[in-house]
Amino acid sequence: MKITDVKATPMRPCLVRIYTDEGVMGIGECSPMNTTVIAHFVNTALKPLLIGENPLETDKLWNKMISSTYKLGVQGTQPEAIAGVDIALWDILGKVAGLPIHTLLGGCYREKVLMYASIGGGSRMTSAEMAKRVESYLDKGFKAIKIRMEWGFARQDVDPAKDLEMFRQVKALTGDDIPLSFDANNGYSVSTAIQQGRKFEELGIYHFEEPVAQYDYDGMAAVADALDVPIAAGEHEYTRWQFRDLIHQAKVDIIQPDVVKCAGISEMHKIAVLGSVYNKHFVPHQTQPTIGTAANLHVISALQHATRPQEYTGQNPQLDELFKEPLVFEDGYIHVPQKPGLGLELDEEKLRKLIDSQ
Ligand code: CA
Repeated sequence: MKITDVKATPMRPCLVRIYTDEGVMGIGECSPMNTTVIAHFVNTALKPLLIGENPLETDKLWNKMISSTYKLGVQGTQPEAIAGVDIALWDILGKVAGLPIHTLLGGCYREKVLMYASIGGGSRMTSAEMAKRVESYLDKGFKAIKIRMEWGFARQDVDPAKDLEMFRQVKALTGDDIPLSFDANNGYSVSTAIQQGRKFEELGIYHFEEPVAQYDYDGMAAVADALDVPIAAGEHEYTRWQFRDLIHQAKVDIIQPDVVKCAGISEMHKIAVLGSVYNKHFVPHQTQPTIGTAANLHVISALQHATRPQEYTGQNPQLDELFKEPLVFEDGYIHVPQKPGLGLELDEEKLRKLIDSQ
């Protein structure tokens, strides 16, 4: 079996399609951070490495891609582009084997995964506005919640008292039964993060995410040492070597690779295994509503230790339309796809129309 074509399309999602000489086609998704740049990377730097190769040799192709383009990236565009290709290769592997990806990774520990609603925009909202949004997610059936601050460029200690009040108002809604987490989006200094974290702990917090700048491993470790609440980070890391440093130096309790950033399923599974060696929780960063979510779910469901609620920002009906059987969210859970490969069958006619309309 040979790869005959690789097509990356810079829409949302940044879609990758890999075609083969046996008529099997695989789909993948790259990071949405700059889809034009990333799609260009796939189409110009990765495609020539893939044409004529056997798509079933996922690890060999991963190493070929990473080493041949090493000086173009390592953090950012390079692994974000490889991610879409690697996911599509796993989709092909599953389709050829007639098995879902989670079976190829060792087996499905849970057929449905509890998801937490990841609600952003906190820095731009009043506490009452955030509480109203949280209420709407509880009405949709979510059984776990995270509020995200999303500071943009205003990064350090903008208004911690307001954040605390927002957390307090949301906590009054979620009560003791619904886990509530807080994502500082790298917005606190170390001392503020520790003071704020203690107050969150008094109110009841499930996890405290990216309390300080992502590059401040020493600061992250100081926060993790000072607080009891699990500290989460990893959406700014890419490969197993960076996660090794995040674990050793930043001492986080929860690692959060993102399958559309961390160079795909091949690498995310290795990162998960590395995390399990250190007894770390595994809760991927996950903001992509269809292909990225499905890829994440295959890895998560194949891990014995990935038992915490997983990130979810909701469905996109326009993207759901592209698939003959879209993901099903029900009563707080997503059902893990059970069909071969990713388990998402693309309707190419509808995709053509969507590409034309964008
Ligand atoms: Ca986050």
